[in-house]
Amino acid sequence: MIIQKTENSRISTFDPNNFSFGNTFIDHMIICEYEDGKWGDVKLVPYGPLMFTPAMMGVNYGQACFEGMKAYKDKDGQVFLFRPEKNFERINKSAKRLAMPEVTEEMFLDGLKALVDIDRDWIPQGEGMSLYIRPLIFATEEALKARVANKYMFAIVATPAKSYYTEPVSVKISDHYSRAASGGVGSAKAAGNYAASFYPTQLAIEEGYEQIIWTDDSTHEYFEESGTMNVFVRINDTIYTPPTSEKILDGVTRDSFIQLAKKRGIEVKIEPIKVKDVIEAQKNGTLKEVWGVGTAVVTTVFQALGYNGEKLQLPRLSDEDSYAEMLKTDLVNIQSNLTEDPFGWRVQVDHVLETV
Ligand SMILES: *Cc1c(COP(=O)(O)O)cnc(C)c1O
Repeated sequence: MIIQKTENSRISTFDPNNFSFGNTFIDHMIICEYEDGKWGDVKLVPYGPLMFTPAMMGVNYGQACFEGMKAYKDKDGQVFLFRPEKNFERINKSAKRLAMPEVTEEMFLDGLKALVDIDRDWIPQGEGMSLYIRPLIFATEEALKARVANKYMFAIVATPAKSYYTEPVSVKISDHYSRAASGGVGSAKAAGNYAASFYPTQLAIEEGYEQIIWTDDSTHEYFEESGTMNVFVRINDTIYTPPTSEKILDGVTRDSFIQLAKKRGIEVKIEPIKVKDVIEAQKNGTLKEVWGVGTAVVTTVFQALGYNGEKLQLPRLSDEDSYAEMLKTDLVNIQSNLTEDPFGWRVQVDHVLETV
């Protein structure tokens, strides 16, 4: 790894009690270029803009995918990643689906650890605080022929993240738009999947909702995901989530929630969820909770479901009665080293670059 430390650290301008998520960037970033069939050296360099042309294939044809993960700092200042190997496996799954070169474990994990290590002072401490990390791969070749590119960049950038408390939101069950299609790229974290979801989401917002519950593209009869998160439904005391597929992204938070629920002895059913069954459960009072899960906010609880022009209210459970809140707390406690880690999910980031 080539390490070029910044001479102009911006850390003194960073106020961990007052910053905006997503556009405050840490001092450094990782970059690595792919050319002539192979990846070059991984470089840890000062964060900043790079120079590309509008003829870059990544922006013309959307050959681009990304990951989202976090680093956490405990009360003693120790820093941890959460299940980073899952993100490594998934970025390569996405890359493969988009005909892009896969990255090596060393590039991904060593790059990640070096970046988090060198900029560990940027990780805010305290409840719900973290560093949000964005690894990505995109085509950089200057060419306008529609074909697989032969130049790429792998990069990792990161932004401090605040407490994840979010108000319960209203979601519209989609009856027309789809996030993913059979045979499509729904199981990849393809940049274009997000672009395609913005317009339908804008329409839902105009109708008074915050997010969309994506349903299957052929019949709209089954729940798939919610917004950019995986979805869970609780009917009586059983929780349901649809199986991952080529249309449902294999979320790390989803998998962690399933394991945490099972550990608590909660019945978890991984099976297709029919919209009709959820609506019926809402009407007969057995629908207790519906929520989304993902790395960014961990959990977003839903307060109402939009279906057939109606806004159906969900019960407002206390934190003690809510499985969503209980499992979120279990997860956050493991992530931020407040409890034991029976699953071996935490990966400590050692001080390796101190002497550089
Ligand atoms: C990233 C993502 C998720 C959540 O995955 P996590 O690994 O839990 O962050 C869910 N759905 C979609 C469409 C996503 O892009």
